[in-house]
Amino acid sequence: MLGAVAAVLTGWRFGLRGLAVAVAAVWLGGVAWLFTRGGASGDLARFAWWTVTGGALLLALGYAALIGELRRRTRDAGATAGLPYRAALAQAPAAPLPPNPEPLAEPGPPADLSGPLSDDELDRYARHIVLRELGGAGQRRLRAARLLVVGAGGLGAPVLLYLAAAGVGRITVADDDTVSLSNLQRQVIFGTADIGRPKAEAAAEAMRRLNPHVTVSPLVRRITADDTALVADHDLVLDGTDSFASRAAVNAACVAARVPLLAGAIAQWEGQIALYDPARGGPCLACLFPEPPAPGLALSCAEAGVVGALPGIIGSSMALEAIKLLAGVTGSGAGEGLRERMVLIDGLWGDTRRLRIAARPGCAVCGA
Ligand SMILES: [Zn+2]
Repeated sequence: MLGAVAAVLTGWRFGLRGLAVAVAAVWLGGVAWLFTRGGASGDLARFAWWTVTGGALLLALGYAALIGELRRRTRDAGATAGLPYRAALAQAPAAPLPPNPEPLAEPGPPADLSGPLSDDELDRYARHIVLRELGGAGQRRLRAARLLVVGAGGLGAPVLLYLAAAGVGRITVADDDTVSLSNLQRQVIFGTADIGRPKAEAAAEAMRRLNPHVTVSPLVRRITADDTALVADHDLVLDGTDSFASRAAVNAACVAARVPLLAGAIAQWEGQIALYDPARGGPCLACLFPEPPAPGLALSCAEAGVVGALPGIIGSSMALEAIKLLAGVTGSGAGEGLRERMVLIDGLWGDTRRLRIAARPGCAVCGA
C-alpha cells in the first residue's frame, strides 16, 4: 500500500516516466518478495496475479510515456521547420525576457485639437475610460491619433473594425484589391453584397457605419517605398499585406519617414506580430528578413491556405498593441509593448511564444 502511494506521488511530481519507474520498482519488489516466500499455500495464485497485472500496468504506462515523448519531439521539430520566419525561433531565449528598453510614446498631454470628450463619446468609450491605464486622457490621445493601415484583408478586417470602434481619430486604409467570394471565409469586415467592390472603400463604409466619430480615408492603391510623405503624415503604420514585396516596400517607407511599423503575418495555422521602429531602437523588418524567401518556401494564403479565425487572433493582437501605443499605455510603465519583440502564435497547438529580435548590423534599409 505504501509503495502504491509513493508511486502515485512520484508520478504526480515527475510525470508519466517517473510513475512508470516507480510502479516497476514496486512490482519487482512484490515479485521478489512472493518468490522468496516459496510454495506457501495460495502464494502461487497471488504470484501469477501480481506478475500479470503489474506487467500489464507497466506496458500501458510505458506506451503512454512513449507517445507523449514522440508528440513532444514532433512538435519541437515542427516549430523549427517550414515557414521562413520560424528560423527566428532558434534565437528564442530560455530565460525570461528583459524589460523593454524604452517606450515608444511619451505619455504627454493630449494634443490641443482633442478638446474634451462629448457626452456621446463618454458613453461610447465608457469601458475604455474606466480602465486605469487608459482613462479619459488615453481616449483623447486615441482621438488625436493618425493611423495608416496597409492591406484591408484578413488582418486588416479586425484591425480596422477594432480601431475604428476604439475611436482612433483618423484612419487611412490602403488596398488596391477588390472583394472576392473566397475572401469572405475570414475577411469579416465585408459582406456578400460587397463582392467586386474595392476593399478600401467597402472597409471605409463599414468603419463609418460602426463609428461616425472616426475620419476614414480610403486609398485604392498599393503603398510603395516612395510613399514617405504619406507615411510621415501618420503616427503609426499597421501592415497586414501578404507578399514579401509589399511588406518590404512598406518597411522602406516607414524607415525613411521614421514612423513605427506594427506588422503581422499569417500562413496556414500560424501567425506573427512585431513592432519595427529603428528610429527609436530595435530592428526594421529588413534586419530580420533581408532577402525574399526561396520560391515555394513562403506561399501566399491562396496557395497555402489559412484557417478562418487565425487572422482574427493576429489582427486583434495588432489592434490591441496599436491601442496601447497610441493611447500612451505602453509609455506609462503599465505592461510592455512589442519593441524588440516578436510574438509567434501557433493555432494548431494553441501555443504562443515571445522572442527577442535585434537590429542587424549592415542592414541595407535602416543602416543599423
Ligand atoms: Zn534594418
